[in-house]
Amino acid sequence: MIPNRVAAIRCYLERMDLDALLITSIHTIRYVSGFTGSDGVVVVGRDGLWFLTDSRYRAQAEEEVAGFILGEYKQKLEETAALLTDQGFGGVGFEASSLTVARHTRLAEAFTGCLTPLPEDFDGIRSVKDREELAALEKISTLASRAFLELLPEIRPGATERRLALRLEWLLREAGANAVAFNFIVASGPRGGLPHAVPTDRAICSGELVTFDFGGILDGYCSDETVTVAVGAPGHRQREIYRTVKEAHDLALERIRPGATCREVDAAARDHIIAQGFGEFFGHGVGHGVGLEIHEKPTVSYRSEETLEEGMVVTIEPGIYLPGWGGVRIEDTVCVTLDGYRILTKVPKELMIL
Ligand code: ZN
Ligand code: ZN
Repeated sequence: MIPNRVAAIRCYLERMDLDALLITSIHTIRYVSGFTGSDGVVVVGRDGLWFLTDSRYRAQAEEEVAGFILGEYKQKLEETAALLTDQGFGGVGFEASSLTVARHTRLAEAFTGCLTPLPEDFDGIRSVKDREELAALEKISTLASRAFLELLPEIRPGATERRLALRLEWLLREAGANAVAFNFIVASGPRGGLPHAVPTDRAICSGELVTFDFGGILDGYCSDETVTVAVGAPGHRQREIYRTVKEAHDLALERIRPGATCREVDAAARDHIIAQGFGEFFGHGVGHGVGLEIHEKPTVSYRSEETLEEGMVVTIEPGIYLPGWGGVRIEDTVCVTLDGYRILTKVPKELMIL
């Protein structure tokens, strides 16, 4: 049990006037209990705490999960419903973003009380990171940046996107990462015009920009960074677009401080890209939270309603994507500090010419 996190969830429970919260998202389960396996259920009552899993994870749960009443199920939903009923809970909140409709139906059939979907802001319960989490995020961000810097000599004409993605994954895992946080993006030349390009067997040519979006996982925590490099001397337009994205990235960073709205951070980057005439080529939000999940709250976009707080960790990743020509994205992951921000990702963002 992680007391400050259990307390935050209980606070939520009281605010919602519910008897218990049913936690089914594996990331929130880990957050509150310390369990690192891939399947389980947590029930947080006003007094009691329960952790249920199946026989595969029984021994692991006994080792990792302290302060919870442990149980083992054969039929997850039916036995969870039985626990909620036996405890006499009337109103139980559940994570609407995690429980599927099919599972909710089975649970509702077996539970005698009332199931209430938690509002979207419950997903923000992990937004503000504590010291331990910040240390983990710093560690994996540093490891991933270092792996990328090691890859630099291999980024040259003739190297394929797929090979570079694989090499980067190798370097990152060799350095100690447990896994990759997502399938890396390596987009060269015209393929840079696709914001989420999948690496192909295309070989890089001299005179092209190449975008790498990569991240690792260590102790459950993800890193996220994007670097766009020039292979050979870049042309005038490539420099202009890179400069515009870099300026947008820096303008967004300058707005980061506790109390700033996510919308104003997004606008700082977006307004600059629009003013430079590239507005229609930047469709996605400026950033997102990073933690146990690669994409989590808060969302940094023009639709966002959230406000930054000290301890939040978000990406800043503006881009310009010209279909058929190519593109540039520059992404850093930063932690909101008392007086501004601290960048966790370490690759310098001045245009590197290889
Ligand atoms: Zn990324
Ligand atoms: Zn990202």
